[in-house]
Amino acid sequence: MPIKSPRNTSYFPTIDLLTWVFADEAHPDDRTYEVDRTRPVFISAADPRQYVTGLALRELTRKIGRGLREVAGVKDGDVVLCASQNHILYPACMFGTICAGAIFTGSNPTYTEYELAHQLKDSGARVVFASAATLPVVLAAASRLHIPKQSIFLLDGPKGDIRGVEDLLRNAGQDWRRLTTLPQVSSSSGTTGLSKACEITHYNAVSHSVSTIYTLDQVCAVRKNPHLEFPEPVYLAFLPLFHAIGLTIFSINCSRMGRKTYVVEHFTFPTILEAIQKYRISFLLMAPPIGVLLVKSPLTKKYDLSSVRKVLSGAAPLGADVALGVEKVLDPDGSKHLKVYQGWGLSEMTCAAAIWDYDEWDEEGRRLGCGQLAAGAEAMIVDDDDKEITDGSPGEVWLKAPFRFKGYWKNEEATRNTITPDGWLRTGDIATVDHRGVFYIVDRKKELIKVKGFQVAPAELEAALLLNQDIADAAVIGVPRDGGEYPRAYIVPAHPNVTVASVEAWIAKRLAAYKRLTGGVEFLEAIPKSASGKILRKVLRERVAQESVAK
Ligand code: AMP
Repeated sequence: MPIKSPRNTSYFPTIDLLTWVFADEAHPDDRTYEVDRTRPVFISAADPRQYVTGLALRELTRKIGRGLREVAGVKDGDVVLCASQNHILYPACMFGTICAGAIFTGSNPTYTEYELAHQLKDSGARVVFASAATLPVVLAAASRLHIPKQSIFLLDGPKGDIRGVEDLLRNAGQDWRRLTTLPQVSSSSGTTGLSKACEITHYNAVSHSVSTIYTLDQVCAVRKNPHLEFPEPVYLAFLPLFHAIGLTIFSINCSRMGRKTYVVEHFTFPTILEAIQKYRISFLLMAPPIGVLLVKSPLTKKYDLSSVRKVLSGAAPLGADVALGVEKVLDPDGSKHLKVYQGWGLSEMTCAAAIWDYDEWDEEGRRLGCGQLAAGAEAMIVDDDDKEITDGSPGEVWLKAPFRFKGYWKNEEATRNTITPDGWLRTGDIATVDHRGVFYIVDRKKELIKVKGFQVAPAELEAALLLNQDIADAAVIGVPRDGGEYPRAYIVPAHPNVTVASVEAWIAKRLAAYKRLTGGVEFLEAIPKSASGKILRKVLRERVAQESVAK
């Protein structure tokens, strides 16, 4: 019997995302709260005089929507890519793209030309939002794909002959169409192979928001615990807006709720600490590496972080010791009842699959577990033969929900391999579930490596390595260390000149910094493979496990 979410949300409206976000039309699920749209929602952490109010966001959306059609020639179903670091205009560019009847895809701003060209090609993007920082790479990648300079718009103002977003705003805005089926795209690696884009529909995005918006917001304004009464959550958006968490929680949920969200453009640890202190951030949405820094860095003590009431960690597994450490650092005497929660999610589920809402659970469950299924979701734990496991032992989690993605963008085969004929998503994550329905993620079946919360597909690194004439064969796996994962390459050299340094440099030149071979480079005579030629990553992982035993 599938496990059902204990959360009680039975109604997922079939309205388009913009109608949901701007909540300007009454619909049955509009649950009784007033949003003051004149207040700032997205505020620059670097310069708080720059902000976008709820009303301005709506107007920008309508104007960018019209500008994209009239100035940039966007047509229904075209793809618009945003290659920018976080910016207060980022959500407006995303919503404006949707208003134009187009499909949005966000890319990692640290991508190299090679990686961005892959995403431009794969998505078929016709128009690109960029920033001064990403412009050189965007220009190089766009020219490879014959995207003209006139189709590039800068979020942080015009530069030379490249226009700014303001060039899209000259005319009055257009209204969005009330649609329910238009897809938008966000990026993900899926379970095997190169990076694949997840197709997220309006229904996915809206139902995910319905499912998570109250649960997560309550993390601060917990009703059941009087100690945690808190006037209003103040969010800090330093996790990337192109990633599922940024897209759903910051861009969508914060816009809908009118939540004050300070946007960090250039992410460094001191910038985050400074912003928490300066803006009295109460809700910290983070990934595990920030938790490690909060615990270990001597900088943490130099700032007043007393405003933080709740911490939610996602994107990768959070060690119990790190969770405990963060609670100690942020609430040394326990008087704030501060708790660190972790959520489990994946782009294929729009974002959240399991989350916590209030402090009801025992300490052990809360620290190690990822909470219960998000409202509207169902799960099954299955063994290697796709048979349901019911005795509590670990297995792959299969999920269903209104916010399960439509499929991989223009990749039917990958979609068929990931969604079963009766609609279950094979998550590739291995978990156990306790009697309360709390999920514990214990392992990963899919090839994906998570580096600082970012996806690294081994196949992408292997493909890049095999472009090197001096490398005969290569395999990449993730090596666990200090609670994180690091990509390691096993290389079969074709030439005696190949060295660890030359292999590292080869990858560093081609791929974004987080994909570097920080887990090391090792040489082998042959890559272990199955009879069908599939890399036996298990054998390589066993080698790594033996290394740590030998230490
Ligand atoms: P993404 O689509 O980039 O969000 O990556 C999703 C993947 O990240 C999941 O399928 C998991 O493998 C991993 N992940 C996310 N959150 C957690 C968590 N709390 N614990 C363990 N793994 C996680």
